[in-house]
Formats: sequence, C-alpha cells, structure tokens
Amino acid sequence: MSTLPAPLLELRGVSKRFVRALDTAAKLAKLLGASAKEETVRAVDAVDLAVQAGEVVGLVGESGCGKSTLGRLAAGLLAPSVGTRLWRGEEIVLLPATAQRDVRLKIQMIFQDSYASLNPRMRVTDIVGEAPVVHGMIKQREQHEYATQMLAHVGLDASLLERFPHQFSGGQRARVGIARALAVKPEFLVCDEAVAALDVSIQAQVLNLFMQLREKFDLTYLFISHDMGVVQHVSDRVFVMYLGRVIENAPTAEIFARTNHPYTKALLAEVPRLDARKKSFVAIQGEIPSPLDPPHGCHFHPRCPQVMPRCRIDQPVLREIAPLHFSACHLNDAAPS
Ligand code: SF4
Repeated sequence: MSTLPAPLLELRGVSKRFVRALDTAAKLAKLLGASAKEETVRAVDAVDLAVQAGEVVGLVGESGCGKSTLGRLAAGLLAPSVGTRLWRGEEIVLLPATAQRDVRLKIQMIFQDSYASLNPRMRVTDIVGEAPVVHGMIKQREQHEYATQMLAHVGLDASLLERFPHQFSGGQRARVGIARALAVKPEFLVCDEAVAALDVSIQAQVLNLFMQLREKFDLTYLFISHDMGVVQHVSDRVFVMYLGRVIENAPTAEIFARTNHPYTKALLAEVPRLDARKKSFVAIQGEIPSPLDPPHGCHFHPRCPQVMPRCRIDQPVLREIAPLHFSACHLNDAAPS
C-alpha cells in the first residue's frame, strides 16, 4: 500500500493570540479602580494545514478572518502561541540552527503591497541580488548577472536593474517582488493577496506567471486571497477561514461543485458584489462576531439561516463529509452517515 510522503509544510493545531494592551485612558481608569482588562484576540485558532510538495493550496476568507496571520505563521514570520510547524515531517524549532536557516530560505513570502515591501532606497539589482550574496549562494561579483537572470524569469528586462521601486508600474513591482523571492531558491511561496492590488488584466498575467514558475522551479504555493475567483483559478485545494478557524476545506473542483458550509455559500454568493462595489463582506452582511469576543459554538451562527440550539453552545469540528471534503457544521452531524 502506497503512503503519501510527509507534507512539505505542515501546521498542526496552530493558534495565534495577540494581546491588545490598554491605552492610556484605560490604564488611568484602572488606576482609579475601574475594571479594565487587556483584550486577547484569537487571530488563528487550532488550525491544521498540510501542503504537499507541488500543491497549490488556496486560503480564502473575508478581511480579518486570520488568513494573513496564518500565512505569516506558515512563512515563519510569526511564532505560533500554540501548535507546531513541520518541514518535510520534522518539527522546525527542533532542527539544528543551520537547518532552520535553510528552511527559512526555502519558505518565502510575497506580499500584497509590493511598494511597501521593497526598500525604496535600493536599486533592483540589490533588492534581488543582495540576499543570495549575504547567504553565500553567489559571489558579490556575480550579483549583477544573477539578478539579470532572476528578472528574466519574471519577464523583466536587464535594463531595469538600476531603477528604484518607484520607477515601476504596479505589475512590474509585483514581478520584482517575485524575483526577489525566487533569488534565494525557495521551494514554498506564501502569496498573501499577491495580485489584489493589480488591475484585472495585470492580475491575469501575474497569476499566469505564478503558474509558469510553479512548473519551472517545482514550487509549492499557499495562495491567500479574499477572491474566490482567483483561488479557483490557481488552487488544487481550498481552505475557507472564518474568525480564525478553518470551517471548510476540499479539492477545488469539489468545494465549488458541492459547497457545504453556509458561510462558504455566502462567501461565494457575495463575490461579484465584493468586486463590483468594493465593499467589504462585513459591510454587506451586516454585523459579524468580533474576534475579540467570539460567540460560543459555531462562529458563524449570527449569519446562519439554520441555527440550531446546539450551535450556540458547542463548537462544530471539521468532519469529512465526502472523500477529502471537510466541513465544520452541526448540520452535517445531524445528517445520516
Ligand atoms: Fe449554522 Fe450551526 Fe452549521 Fe454553524 S454549526 S453553520 S450555526 S447550522
């Protein structure tokens, strides 16, 4: 019997909590005897995520659902409050320091705001070529030639090497950001809303570039987006997040053909309105539970058309409702197995 190899990257039971410190007024009120407490935000709550080598996993959800925090946890830019992070089946924090450094390079992140993530005072030749020199992948004298090759991989000409980020269009800056990530020979890219700031026609070009690079360099992606259309276009599997939890995941064709969770259905139904009116899902749907004070039971219950008493007291768990299709909803528990 054949068994799957260990996932390239795996998050097991990962949670991330942030404590919101008291502001000056609250501190003063506390000194005077008021009961002011620091608030804890459960940005990510007990998430399991395993990505096989070569896969593209889409992570979708509305603003504030925790998908960017999960992306940063995956990329190692944040440490989890609870849970473990594994690379090829080995817990990363238990690896020797040099191996941990190698894993850090193997996982690169591409950000939405390419302008903010590129140093405005550096020329492209340094933005792209500096890290490989620092990490001993190339010699200093090879930097110019190496950066030229990286730009060619993302469809940019070597004549642009001496320019600064502000001298590029949004699409070109996105390509520079990708070239910078490629320069340290990654295996896993976490793309956080990587095309969200681009015009639709440029989005398509950059998405195609991602797919070409996947073939060329055997890349694996965690593709984070609020846009179900983008996720459907690029992903092999889709994870849907709501208030820090994964509430549904399945292979892409399955989740779009047989959407199960009421929240995923609502998200799918609202996508055109999101794009057309540039409103947030939150604004369209009305009040949602705050991550500062999540409701008991299913986080989705304020919007669910089929609230059961149980949903208010009991957090539904992810259950396999069809082969490789998981959903966290008590409606599934009620269905005959
Ligand atoms: Fe609705 Fe309950 Fe399912 Fe949550 S668990 S989506 S409240 S039926």
